[in-house]
Amino acid sequence: MFATLSDRLADTFKNLRGKGRLSEADIDATAREIRIALLEADVALPVVKDFVAAVKERARGEEVSQALNPAQQVIKIVNDELVEILGGETRRLRYAKTGPTVIMLAGLQGAGKTTLAAKLALWLKEQGKSPLLVACDLQRPNAVQQLQVNGDKVGVPVFAPEAGNTGGNEDGGDPVGVARASIEEAKRRLFDVVIVDTAGRLGVDAEMMGQAASIRDAVQPDEVLFVVDAMIGQDALTTAQAFLDGVGFDGVVLTKLDGDARGGAALSIRQVTGRPVMFASSGEKMTDFDVFHPDRMASRILD
Ligand code: GDP
Repeated sequence: MFATLSDRLADTFKNLRGKGRLSEADIDATAREIRIALLEADVALPVVKDFVAAVKERARGEEVSQALNPAQQVIKIVNDELVEILGGETRRLRYAKTGPTVIMLAGLQGAGKTTLAAKLALWLKEQGKSPLLVACDLQRPNAVQQLQVNGDKVGVPVFAPEAGNTGGNEDGGDPVGVARASIEEAKRRLFDVVIVDTAGRLGVDAEMMGQAASIRDAVQPDEVLFVVDAMIGQDALTTAQAFLDGVGFDGVVLTKLDGDARGGAALSIRQVTGRPVMFASSGEKMTDFDVFHPDRMASRILD
């Protein structure tokens, strides 16, 4: 669809092999190509600016090697910087020292939370854990049922308000009460990880943030994961900022990476919020899920 950065730089450096240091003109031309490539990959503009400045600084100090051509050399610098910003090594989940580990999911409606909850449960099961899924999205019609269907697919039980019993609350029940009760249930039945799915709205909204914050206060999660659809592109950053302010989160899950999004959201969110992307979700199957690999994402952004 777009020219890759490698193609762009190969053009820029056609006549440059083995010329000593890159000239300022070469560096400016390089910077321009990197800027375009990152913007096309959906990286937010302020993040692009900082990133390009850092790469320029590094490129100035480097000799053009005889072995690599200048394009390859710049690509290597860009790739190294991307991997570093994306978190270097994958950040692992923190488990509670005593009692069940509580993981709370937050994000907009449609981000992929309910799907992700079950994928994460399956992944944890494969790590030898015994997870419990908790349905606290009592707003979206069918969200509880959808979690139950997904829970069945991965063989993980779902804690949900009894059918027809919403505590007399016409809004669909009391998600904070359900969340709190789920922790007691997990302790009683010896589940060691509790995954709390929460309600999202189509846009950022104070009531939704308030509810998520109340659930957070009730269950004191070990990890709050912000779930975001990679396909929303640059909007991912504003959404992440709103959730960081409204609920707070420890890590990010990027979903729908099977689509054609280039994944620049990962870079923007990491750089601006300081929170690492921890998992990647890439399809409708329960196994379309993995820990996040910064090096793979760097290639995706560049290629
Ligand atoms: P929630 O509102 O945040 O709970 O989002 P859902 O889990 O209901 O997901 C919204 C839609 O996106 C559903 O149709 C899912 O099947 C779909 N979905 C979720 N994750 C992925 C993914 O990684 N790839 C693709 N292609 N679709 C996904």
